[in-house]
Amino acid sequence: MARNPRYDILFEPVRIGPVTARNRFYAVPHAAGMTNSMPHMRAKFRETKAEGGWGVVCSGYVSIDPSSDDAPLPFATLWDEDDIRSHALMTDAVHRHGALAGIELWHGGGSVMNRTSRIAPMSPSGTSWMATHVNFMGNQRPRAMDTHDIRALLTWQAEAARKARRAGFDIVYVYAGMGYLPYEFLLSDWNQRTDAYGGSVRNRVRIVRELLEVTRAAVGDRCAVALRISLEELRSRPSDAAPSEAHEVVELLADVPDLWDVKLDSSPTDCAPSRFAPEGSHEPIIEFVRKLTRKPVVGVGRFTSPDTMVGQIKRGVLDLIGAARPSIADPFLPRKIDEGREQDIRECIGCNICISSWHDAVPVRCTQNPTIGEEWRRDWHPERVAPSGSTSSVLVVGAGPAGLECALTLGRRGYEVTLAEAADEIGGRLRFETRLPGLSAWGRVLDWRRGQLQRLPNVNIYRGNRLSADDILELGNTHVVIATGSRWARLLYSALEIPVGKLEGPEVFTPDDIADGARIEGPVVVYDFDNYYMGSVLAEHLARAGHRIAYVTPAGHASAWAIMSNEQPQIHRALFSAGIALHTLSRVTAFERGEVTLAGQFTDTATRIACRSLVIVGARFANDSLHAGLAVRPQDLAAARIQSVTRIGDALAPGAIVHAVYSGHRYARELDADPATLTYRRDAPLGRRPAAAPVLAARKDQERLT
Ligand code: ADP
Ligand code: SF4
Repeated sequence: MARNPRYDILFEPVRIGPVTARNRFYAVPHAAGMTNSMPHMRAKFRETKAEGGWGVVCSGYVSIDPSSDDAPLPFATLWDEDDIRSHALMTDAVHRHGALAGIELWHGGGSVMNRTSRIAPMSPSGTSWMATHVNFMGNQRPRAMDTHDIRALLTWQAEAARKARRAGFDIVYVYAGMGYLPYEFLLSDWNQRTDAYGGSVRNRVRIVRELLEVTRAAVGDRCAVALRISLEELRSRPSDAAPSEAHEVVELLADVPDLWDVKLDSSPTDCAPSRFAPEGSHEPIIEFVRKLTRKPVVGVGRFTSPDTMVGQIKRGVLDLIGAARPSIADPFLPRKIDEGREQDIRECIGCNICISSWHDAVPVRCTQNPTIGEEWRRDWHPERVAPSGSTSSVLVVGAGPAGLECALTLGRRGYEVTLAEAADEIGGRLRFETRLPGLSAWGRVLDWRRGQLQRLPNVNIYRGNRLSADDILELGNTHVVIATGSRWARLLYSALEIPVGKLEGPEVFTPDDIADGARIEGPVVVYDFDNYYMGSVLAEHLARAGHRIAYVTPAGHASAWAIMSNEQPQIHRALFSAGIALHTLSRVTAFERGEVTLAGQFTDTATRIACRSLVIVGARFANDSLHAGLAVRPQDLAAARIQSVTRIGDALAPGAIVHAVYSGHRYARELDADPATLTYRRDAPLGRRPAAAPVLAARKDQERLT
């Protein structure tokens, strides 16, 4: 199909200093959990984006010196010759498809703990980041930088920039964002210096200017020099010389970098979940930058709609459409727009499971795109699947995320697929969950698959068909896939941190009961030890229905795991503004006579709170009775010529939607495959030899001089 001329502007080349991006699609730097220890996975993952049409594809954050060590979070390094070769794999791969490769050089300053290198961290004035959440806490405070440290920082940046050029990068970054070292100089709270690098905005900007200058001197006219900067806090600070300190900073540096990459300050606002922020949420903070510089500006905003992208450019907000999450959910997004196939874009749902992968220090995972991170390791391409290895027919029972993804991928492979769903509508858990506060964008998991399935004549969907074991035997397909989901349990929670002690009763509910339309009376206690979104989102949902709600959890925070998906700060704000009472570190031990009894998770305290409906959001168990019923009938299976019965998704092991989609996809990829061809390659650093000496020698000089 031909491209819609309305979108032609997105495919105009953009000059960035000495290099030219072939179009306006810019895959910004983002962590993907693949460090230099997984160079082949990393290269293939980024190559896939270049193949999918992104004009620029950037690395994640890359440390310029061992004094910037974010372990155990997965960061890359550019410290020595082996590191150059490791990154060159990615630049070669990206260049093969005509894209530019960018590298985000990074020093974490007072935000890192240097747990591996054990070098004392440093920040402009010895100010430390004292995070509210244990995942980011450390107990070594940074030392204040002296002038020698500032010279050393400039030297490390220049050396890393030279290495970046040798590794083949086209765009080399100075990174003054997200609480990292140059950002710490920009903000007066971090920077209380009294020398030329502290005090006025002009002084606080000095280090960023010098970093840009040494980078340019190092790369010469071969590479562009980009500045990535967080402007949220600066924009909130008044300035005598400009509308805000952010304006003043941008005015002072206006044409110094070749490219402005503008963003917000903390992961939860910069990479905000769709539950709390719409597409384009950065615009109110960054819209002014374009007016103060002649250099191109790139920014993000979970852009998936080409019309929104065109709007950003035409309104003079951005020159390049930046994307991290949309490029993960669909590495082929630009190409689909180019080919007039916008309806095929697998739109990011803003769930932030990808971010949680970084927090978990593992390769990136995505709810929408099960192939991400598996391009090299399992040889999974997001747009191509192997044709079916047989004429087998497959029955998929259950059309939730697992069954839908499974049926779709089997259908793309050419199998004859029957997808049977008990309910009148497909979607499984999404039927209910997307109606909960803030979760409507998650409906894209269903919408995209429904749209794709409609084009596959070899997949037949039967709604309103609850199948029994006998029905399945009668249908007699070659393979049967059980994707029947899971049920929430009415179990309580013990001091041993496991679910125990069933609590039955007409006023005890689970999320399934609420999905089924149970009548809830207030006051309501939502008891959450699932720790992800369901507990807090149901509390919000029931509060909107007018009930008085108490939210109880044995964890220290509401939706404690949601710190991993950047949602937790907003969840706390949402519960607070809905007037929901919060009881953390508390377990429900009894519910009788209109009262719930709470025990302290670590103490013997007992508290009673009024309750007419108790909603337990805790353990879940697989709906695997169909599977169990078939497993005990091997002769009947043989008579029906059924060769395999396999559980996938929640029916195998209850999890988040990301697990269900992945499970369904993997089954479909691997059906009939020769086991010898099923790859699960283990990556390894590229020919790394012990190379500590040069780096440590430099460090020793540095410490002696300090
Ligand atoms: P998953 O996340 O693993 O996809 P879901 O709970 O979202 O699981 O979806 C499971 C789907 O399976 C639901 O839509 C449910 O109605 C359907 N289902 C459960 N049992 C049967 C059955 N016996 N026959 C057909 N569909 C079923
Ligand atoms: Fe988007 Fe969720 Fe995929 Fe991240 S994991 S790219 S937020 S769909």
